[in-house]
Amino acid sequence: MTALPPEFQKRMQRMLGDADASFQDCWSRPAFRGIRRNPLKCGEETLKASFPFSLRPSPFSPLGFYLPENAEGIGRLPLHHAGAFYVQEPSASSAVTVLNPQPGERILDLCAAPGGKSTQIAALLAGKGVLWSNEVVRGRARILLSNLERTGVKNAVVSSCRPERLCPALTGYFDRVLVDAPCSGEGMFRRSEEAVRAWSPEHVKACASRQLAILESACAALKENGVLVYSTCTFSMEENEGVVSAFLESHRDFLLEDCGVAFGRPAFLPKARRIFPMDGGEGHFVARLRRLSANPCMAKTRQGGDVPVPKMAKALYEVIFRGRFSGNVERIRSDLFLAPDDLPQTDGLGVLRAGLMLGSIRTGRAEPAHALFMAAKPEELRNVLSFSHDSAEISAFLHGDELCVPECLKGYCGVAVDGVMVGFGKCSGGRLKNHYPKGLRNLSCDTRLKDESLK
Ligand code: SAM
Repeated sequence: MTALPPEFQKRMQRMLGDADASFQDCWSRPAFRGIRRNPLKCGEETLKASFPFSLRPSPFSPLGFYLPENAEGIGRLPLHHAGAFYVQEPSASSAVTVLNPQPGERILDLCAAPGGKSTQIAALLAGKGVLWSNEVVRGRARILLSNLERTGVKNAVVSSCRPERLCPALTGYFDRVLVDAPCSGEGMFRRSEEAVRAWSPEHVKACASRQLAILESACAALKENGVLVYSTCTFSMEENEGVVSAFLESHRDFLLEDCGVAFGRPAFLPKARRIFPMDGGEGHFVARLRRLSANPCMAKTRQGGDVPVPKMAKALYEVIFRGRFSGNVERIRSDLFLAPDDLPQTDGLGVLRAGLMLGSIRTGRAEPAHALFMAAKPEELRNVLSFSHDSAEISAFLHGDELCVPECLKGYCGVAVDGVMVGFGKCSGGRLKNHYPKGLRNLSCDTRLKDESLK
C-alpha cells in the first residue's frame, strides 16, 4: 500500500485529536464494501435468497448492506445484470438518506456519475416525479445512463452540462438538489492507491474552490423552501465545513438544518454529519441546507419532440405489453421515448436521455429498446421466460448465446432471472435470438462492474 502523505496524517491528527488513534487503527483493516438493493426491481427476500454471500444491514440506508470480505465477482452475478442491486460503499448511501426524496418530487443530482446516488434517489421516488441526473464529463454521463437503464428507472433525465449553464436554465424548478461534489477523495484512500498518490494540499485547495463554485450554481435551481444537500467522500475541513460555511456566509437566505439521522457523528458544524472508518464506512460528509427565499420557476415549458408518432409507439408497446398504452411519446431522430410528465424544455442542456427509451424506428418499423424491458415487470409482458440465477440458460443468455425455447413462442420475449427482468430476445422456430447488449455481456474473464468501481 502507498504510504499516506505525512501532511494528510498531520491534518487528520489535528482534526480528530483523541479520536485519531481509532482512525489510525482502521488502516490495518480491509475497506468496507457494500451493495444497495433496488426496490424498483427486487424485493429483499428475492435478493437474500439468491445472493451467494451473507448480507449484513448497513446503518446508512434501509436498502444498504455490507458485503463480507470474501465476496468476489459481484458484477457478474445475474441479479447485478438485472439491476436488482447496485454496488456501493456503505457510507455513500448516507447523502440520499439525508436528502430524503419523496415520490412525486423534482430532484436534481448535479454531479451524478456513475450513478450510486441517482439510482438511490430513483428508488425512493418510486417512479413518481422527475430525477434530473447531470454529469459534466460526457463519457461518465454515458455510464450513468447505462446504470439508470440497468436499474429500470423510467423517470430520469440524463444530461452532461456544466452546472453554471444547467442550473440558471432550471431556476426554481427543483424540490431538492444534491451536490455530491468532486473532491480530494480521502475517504477512498483505503481502496484506491491512485487517490492517495493524487493527494496534495494544493489539490485540496483547488477542490474546495471548485466545490464552492458548484454550490453557487446549484442553489439557483432550488425552489423556495427546497432542500440542498452537499456531500463529499473526503475528510478535509477545507472541502467540507469550510465550503459550507463560506456558502452560508454569502447566502443568508439558506439555513443549515439538522441532518435528522443517527449514523456517523456530528461534524465540526454540528448539524452536519461525518462518517469516518471507525463509524462503519469509508468516509462521507453530509450537510443539509434549506432555501428560505422566493425563487419562482423560470424553466421554459417543454415543446413536443420532432414529429408526433403515438401510433407506431402504441403498436410497439401493445405487441410487448398486456396493458394499454398511455404516456407522452417523443421522437428524436429515429428514437422513441416515453417522457415523464412535467418536464421543462431541455434544449441546449446536453441531454442524453429524457425518460424511458421505447425503441428505434428501423426500415419503417419500431424495434424495442433494452431499457424498455429493464423497466418492465414480468407480469406486464405478453411473453416472458424466467430462469433461476444458477441456471445454464441465464449464463448462456448473459453470454450472448441463442436459447432453445418452446416452438409456440413467437416475437419479442422478455427474459427474467428469479423474476427480475434482465433483457429480451426475439423468438421464432424454437430459438430465442439474443438482444442482450453486446457491451454488457459476461465474457470469459471480464468482470464488468460499472457502479462504484468507476467512481
Ligand atoms: N454522485 C456520484 C455517485 O454517487 O455515483 C459520484 C459523484 S463524484 C463524487 C463527483 C462527480 O462530479 C464526478 O463524476 C465528476 O466527473 C464530476 N465533476 C467534476 N468536475 C465537476 C464540475 N466542475 N462540476 C460538476 N461536476 C463535476
